[in-house]
Amino acid sequence: MTKPLTAHGTLYIVPTPIGNLEDITLRALRILKEVDLIAAEDTRHTRNLLTHFGITTPLISYYREKEAERSEEIILRLQEGKNIALVSDAGTPAISDPGAVVVRQIHDLGLTVVPLPGASALTTALSGSGVTSEGFLFLGFLPAKSGQRRKALAAVAACEYPVVFYESPHRIDTFLADALEILGERQAFWARELTKNFEDLQSGTLSDLLAKSNEGRNRGEFVVVICPGRKEEVKGQTLEELILWYRDNSDLSLKDVSRQLASDLGISRSQIYQQALTLWNR
Ligand code: SAM
Repeated sequence: MTKPLTAHGTLYIVPTPIGNLEDITLRALRILKEVDLIAAEDTRHTRNLLTHFGITTPLISYYREKEAERSEEIILRLQEGKNIALVSDAGTPAISDPGAVVVRQIHDLGLTVVPLPGASALTTALSGSGVTSEGFLFLGFLPAKSGQRRKALAAVAACEYPVVFYESPHRIDTFLADALEILGERQAFWARELTKNFEDLQSGTLSDLLAKSNEGRNRGEFVVVICPGRKEEVKGQTLEELILWYRDNSDLSLKDVSRQLASDLGISRSQIYQQALTLWNR
């Protein structure tokens, strides 16, 4: 291991496979072997992975519900000069997984963190999606409660980039149904069981994917990419005409319309909101 020139230890952020065990990197294996400790989201799960690769490094647990407490312990060990690898159950730690709390503290304390590149469901799915946009917005998991989830979807209705979500098998149907209702029909893509035997990539409209999920093809974990809505030419000369056009021709909320017009016209959102409010229910 390349030792940094400090007395304290280094925290290595180590991605692990999201299904196929061949997807661990040579560097990740070396780091996992050479560190003093591995902090794992689920020690039993990680023990299986380590056993497969003949690695016997001791494990400590680091999981979401105890992130603050476990971070303190990791910091202490780093200050004692121990090198530690942080892993989650699958993919890259701190991406919709525990990890960010300890990394933040390490930066604050001037300690050393070394993130390794490697498997992530996000990049694997996007690279296989055929979505051609240069950029994307990653939201990870939306809230489990329907009201909050719908609010989060409404907030990205006007996003000009594809939006990427993580979703679990038991919520994929309700997620897609909410997305269809709130965002309207859109092109979308799902990647299910990436890198595993039953890997399944599906492109289609939100309705197509919803129908597929209703057929019961919803076992396994999902990454869902939803493309931006088709942009219709906005018609109107005055602010009033523009507000009314959005009200009658788009699925955007009053708030989203105000935000959109504020950015298009360079005037304040509150000014537009006030005028839109009086026109909206006319
Ligand atoms: N940190 C991980 C990463 O970088 O990929 C993500 C962890 S998050 C707790 C787990 C979610 O990632 C799953 O619910 C699913 O949305 C996605 N995911 C993980 N493995 C996957 C796979 N093999 N196929 C599709 N999606 C996967």
